[in-house]
Amino acid sequence: MSFRLFGKKSGSSRGKLATSLRTEKLKSSIILNAIDDGVVLVDDQGLIQLFNPGAVAITGWSDTEAEGLDWQLVFRFVDAKGQAVEDTQAAIGQVLKLGQATRDNTANIITKSNKIIGVSFSISPLIDDNKRVTGAVGIFRDVSQERQDENRRAEFISTASHEMRTPVAAIEGYLSLALNEKVAIIDSKARDYLEKAHASTEHLGRLFQDLLTSAKAEDGRLTNHPKVVEVGAYLEQLTSDLKFSAEKKGLFMDFVVGASSQSIDATAGSSRVVRPLYYAEIDPDRMREVITNLFDNAVKYTDTGKVSIGLTGNDQVVQFYVKDTGPGIPAEDIPHLFQKFYRVDSSATRTIGGTGLGLFICRKIVELYDGRIWVESEQGKGSTFFINLPRISSARAEQLQATETQSATMTSITSPTKQ
Ligand code: ADP
Repeated sequence: MSFRLFGKKSGSSRGKLATSLRTEKLKSSIILNAIDDGVVLVDDQGLIQLFNPGAVAITGWSDTEAEGLDWQLVFRFVDAKGQAVEDTQAAIGQVLKLGQATRDNTANIITKSNKIIGVSFSISPLIDDNKRVTGAVGIFRDVSQERQDENRRAEFISTASHEMRTPVAAIEGYLSLALNEKVAIIDSKARDYLEKAHASTEHLGRLFQDLLTSAKAEDGRLTNHPKVVEVGAYLEQLTSDLKFSAEKKGLFMDFVVGASSQSIDATAGSSRVVRPLYYAEIDPDRMREVITNLFDNAVKYTDTGKVSIGLTGNDQVVQFYVKDTGPGIPAEDIPHLFQKFYRVDSSATRTIGGTGLGLFICRKIVELYDGRIWVESEQGKGSTFFINLPRISSARAEQLQATETQSATMTSITSPTKQ
């Protein structure tokens, strides 16, 4: 996006133009003075030319102090602990160098009185008729209060779901006992009621677990112990663990390596298939959550047909996917699917239970490993959820595995009781 401060004037009379410019200027200065957002104009050398009252209130620099200074002296981007964040600084530099607009909702700056505040900003280049970058306009807002509120909300959800899991687990336990013929004698009507109560309690337990995991994913508290994993063997094992729930619903399930002609039945021994070794550095328990989630969705939303788990890749990437022959996802919902609490509003989702947290958690976990998750889907034909992870070479994998073994040995020598 490029920015033009004043529109082009076509009037021929100089007087008319001057009046019109004066009116435009007046309008602009009324707006610039009235809005709470900070507005900064820098020239092509990065020197501040305009610093509105909103910018003064947010940064603590007066307009006379800031104007004429290099923007980097006034806007010092830091992380939450006050350490300089070079990436943000560099991204803003690109606005002037390459004329590319940039925006960020997660930045922090240090004010003149050395206070760290959260800001959201958007910066657009000013481009003249010869397509030359002549400067940039930045608009920014203090979002410290919003972030604090958001953290408090996340903290509340996290504490509440943690506390509620314990009584729910107790209820589930007692219901299981009541349903156990060796422990309790109940008539068939009571059994029917208790089975329904048991299913609902299980659902509640999963909901609390999902809420807790998503709150942790948001504030970076997810436990994560990455190690070298050979994704082929790992997925093959996982497929055979998962296939029963697909088969229970009458769905066929397979594990596909590379081209679909190499498709192998999950129940058959698959060691006959020669496939490349795909190594990635991931926490196998965390990634199991992701695949199980995608797989459970595939089974949940598919009435007939097949669910496939697949693996492919190239030198840089390990790619795996979960594919189904279900109802598909409308194109307009796809961009929102990995957001928290997002559910497609359809008759199917209204009758099928869910929280809209599963795919959000999947995205957060995949991002822990610099990976990418996305979906391709066609309504009426099915959906395929893809995950790309950085692939590590076999040589590098061996090196890392040797270090892992070494540090495991060291741990067992220094704390033998932990074995
Ligand atoms: P939910 O608990 O609702 O399943 P998710 O975050 O796992 O939450 O999924 C979000 C939404 O994406 C679901 O409500 C559903 O509408 C849609 N969705 C996810 N997976 C599939 C799938 N395999 N086929 C069709 N729709 C799906």
